[in-house]
This record gives sequence, C-alpha cells and structure tokens, in this order.
Amino acid sequence: MVRNPKGMRDILPPETLKWRRLEILLSKVALLYGYGEIRTPILEFSDLFRKGLGDQSDVALKEMYEFVDKNDDVLALRPEGTAPVARAFIQHHLYDSPMVKLFYDGPMFRRERPQAGRYRQFHQFGVECFGIEEPFVDVEILLLVKRIFSLLGSPLTLHINSLGCNECRPRYMDALRRFIADRIPEDEELDRFMKNPLKLFDSKNPEHSIVKSEAPKITSFLCDDCKEHYETLMDFASKLNLDLVEDNELARGFDYYTRTVFEGYVGDDSLAVIGGGRYDHLVAYYGGPDIPGIGFAIGLERLLTTLDEIPKVDSEPTKTYFLATTGNDMVMAAFTLAELLRSNNIGVIMDLRQGKLQKQLKLADKMEIENVLIMGEEEYKNNTVTVRNMKTGEQMVIPQEAVING
Ligand code: AMP
Repeated sequence: MVRNPKGMRDILPPETLKWRRLEILLSKVALLYGYGEIRTPILEFSDLFRKGLGDQSDVALKEMYEFVDKNDDVLALRPEGTAPVARAFIQHHLYDSPMVKLFYDGPMFRRERPQAGRYRQFHQFGVECFGIEEPFVDVEILLLVKRIFSLLGSPLTLHINSLGCNECRPRYMDALRRFIADRIPEDEELDRFMKNPLKLFDSKNPEHSIVKSEAPKITSFLCDDCKEHYETLMDFASKLNLDLVEDNELARGFDYYTRTVFEGYVGDDSLAVIGGGRYDHLVAYYGGPDIPGIGFAIGLERLLTTLDEIPKVDSEPTKTYFLATTGNDMVMAAFTLAELLRSNNIGVIMDLRQGKLQKQLKLADKMEIENVLIMGEEEYKNNTVTVRNMKTGEQMVIPQEAVING
C-alpha cells in the first residue's frame, strides 16, 4: 500500500478551508503593518543553516534533511525561515532601503521525533524587519502579534527576555558556565552546557530545575545600551497593554539571536505557538552589511489546534498611510493612532528609527507612499493629524476621526 512519510501529513477539506482563512488573516495583518510577502526556495545550501543557526542547535546538527546534489552541492530542506530571508535580503541588495519588512508563509522541515505538536513537515508564518536598531520595531512587532491573536480570539501569553549583545552576552555566558560547572556533575550533558550554557534553560531533566532557578540571570549582566533597549521596550509595552511576562530563562534555540527574544503560548499548553527575536548581526555574519533584524515565526499546525472557528477576512487594507512624527515624544501617540487605523482596516507604515521629520519623509518618498500623516504636539493635543500629499506637497490639518473613518 502507498502511504506518506512519517511526520508529514495530507491536509484535506474541510480542514483546508481553515488553513486558507488563517493564512489570509495572517497576511492581512502583515499588510496592515507594511510588510510585503517574500517567497524563497524550499531548498537552500545546507551551510546557510549550519552557520546561521549554530552547530550546537539541534536543528542544524541533527534534524536537517540534507542531501548531496548531483553536482556535489550539499542542499537542505529549509528548517526555518529567517536564514533564507536574510540570504535573500543580502543577495538582492534590499539593504539599499533603511527599513525592509517582509513576511513569509510556507512549509518547513525538521526530522524530529514525531509526537503531539511536532511534525517533520510543518508550516510557519513569519515576519522579518531589517534595518532598525531602535526598540520601536520590537514594540510594533509585538503589537502585530497581539493583533493576530486578538483577531483569532485566542488568548496568547507572551514571554520576553533579553539575551544581550556581543559585548555583554559573553560575560553572562562565562558566569553561567562557571555556575553550571560547580553544580552539575561531569557527564555528556555538562559537555553540552559548556559549549552553550543557555541550553541549561531548555533542559527537561528534573534534577536541573533547582540549578536553573538559582542560575545567574542575564538581566543583571546587560550592558547600558542593552538595558536601555529592554527598558524602553518594556515601558512602551506596558503603556500599550501588551501584557508581557518577563522570563529570564527564555533562551531560544538558535545562535543568531541577540537582545529581545520572545515566545508565546496559548492556554496552558507548554509548547510554544510562536517564537522570535532580534538577530542584529546575522546579516553581517552572512557577509552582508552589519544591519540589525527582528522577526518571529508562528507554527500553523500548533496554532490551528487551539482554534475552533476562524473569522472570514477581506484580504487587503483599504488604504495605506505612512505615519510620521515630529520626534520621539510623539511615538506613543503615533502608535496609538496607528493601532486605531489598523483596527479600521487601514494600513500604517512608520519609520521605526524615528529621528527627524525630514528623514522620515525621505523614507516615505523612497517607499513611494503618497499619503503621509504627521503627528506633532499640536495635532496630538487637538486630536487632529496633518495629512500631506507627497506628490504635490499639499498639507492639511484634519480631525483624526476623519482619517479613521476613511
Ligand atoms: P522555531 O523556528 O523553532 O523558533 O519555532 C517557531 C514555531 O514553529 C514554534 O513555536 C512552533 O509553533 C513551530 N514549530 C517548530 N517546530 C515544529 C515542529 N516540528 N512541528 C510543528 N510546529 C513546529
């Protein structure tokens, strides 16, 4: 009898209708935040993942489907989406623009032991934003995540942590290594922890639970810049009701992560439905310019098991604005207006570097967005906003209400 390979499955109607609706909803939210779709090949050179994910990561080491092509190239079925998107970002010189927002949706492959919530072919929807160092992009990505789960009516608990940068993380790793060496007997596991001490936090061994809870915490090792990044993010998150759970044991599996990392759970399921974070040096590591990035991936199989009904959605925003501000003091007001607009099916793109208004308008020009909104102090006070047509240079102050109502 014929049958499909282990850990891979057919998706049949009526389940496929749920998939289609879910994928439309996800891409719609990505469009509302100014993300454009990217489609990369299913096959990549295996080294892309071995290098980027780190040789210590299970995915790179054990779980990849790899084969040698007829001309001796070692290829791999992609196990995740960030590395291919970073590769495409470099290859197509997308870094000519100061802010690049991409989303993807497709099958990934990991040769895991099949069990509940773990498949060998599974699907991820993910977004990646390149070019922005400021924590405003972290905030906006978390708003996007929150919008997805609120549209789905699915309560998401988001855990967050900072892994520091190349300056402060090594100091933390050394301290953690010394702590582990004192507390865990010599064996194979100790070897693994010595190579990557953050693996301690993924350990399911009950004997390690006290060690984990007593281990030094990354937050006390962050350098001033990382601390400021994290604190600004947490400050905005609390004002925007993002409800984040600070989790100093959150490490994530791949080597490329820096600073902000997060994972989300639905209900009391211990398997994450979403994982993501910053990868500020991945592009440089692959030979591109040193451009920061941040993104996440949602596991669609896992997400679907948490959902009964999926609401039907129209697939595109009615209109997209570029929303500029007169400075950092106006960012919170801009986020609030942007969220209102998105709730009314209107797309919004902001220059997440912020900085001078002129610089922001230049980005709007570069992105060829004609309709710009400007949020300044006067506008904020009066519940108005300036509308500027980039083609004609004409400007007008109008009530925010008028923009929200289209
Ligand atoms: P990761 O790329 O490992 O950070 O995973 C991101 C998300 O993809 C996870 O939170 C899961 O929802 C999903 N995922 C990862 N591995 C699998 C798998 N083997 N089967 C199904 N979903 C997975």
